Amino acid sequence: MTMNGRSELLAELKSWSETFESKQPQDVLAAALERYGGKIVLACSFGAEDVVLVDMVHRINPSVPLFYLDTDFLFPETYATRDRVIERYRLNPGQVIHVKSLLTPQQQAESYGDALWAKNPDQCCQLRKVEPLTRVLKGYHAWITGIRRDQAPSRANAGLVEWDQKFELVKINPLARWTWADVWTYIKVYEVPYNPLHDQSYPSIGCTYCTAPVAPGDDLRAGRWKTFAKTECGLHKP
Ligand code: SF4
Repeated sequence: MTMNGRSELLAELKSWSETFESKQPQDVLAAALERYGGKIVLACSFGAEDVVLVDMVHRINPSVPLFYLDTDFLFPETYATRDRVIERYRLNPGQVIHVKSLLTPQQQAESYGDALWAKNPDQCCQLRKVEPLTRVLKGYHAWITGIRRDQAPSRANAGLVEWDQKFELVKINPLARWTWADVWTYIKVYEVPYNPLHDQSYPSIGCTYCTAPVAPGDDLRAGRWKTFAKTECGLHKP
């Protein structure tokens, strides 16, 4: 794409995003699904925001694919939630894309040493999340994510629609304006299956090694990489 073409696209996405500021997430999704047809995919960690999006997308177009990044270190409750979601929405096997690292945990330990997450979590996330994500997104023009502005300062400026500079495709964040309470209202009203760890003080759920429960009143992402300054795995870094 030429510089001019890129500038035009960025301006168009910005203006499109601004028109959605007063609309509902379902409006954003419907417009994005129509525009990107078979070239859009939903990123799903089976956390609260993502199961809301699965439900919303299903009501608009039940054939849209989703992918999940299986780091090999997910909680058993996360895999169980995946199975409940697949059953509830009758997702077919080809619709649920299972994305793994190029390295097994054992190969990673042989190449980078044991417990890389405890020494260099950025490198571990790069190997088990960022590289696999880069690979899966190559086949799409747009991806849908569950990020919300009030999750973290690094997400405060998220647009409803934006250009993802890092992965070179359009990023749709239908829940950007929603609060944590909005998410739970939706889950309860529509009886969406959710990860039971959310009921055990885990508002944000990642890998077993890097996720801890939070204390009442703590930041929602305070339980992630608790002993490091790290707050993002690299998927949503601005
Ligand atoms: S969250 Fe932790 S275990 Fe999971 S990929 Fe990142 S550093 Fe590794």
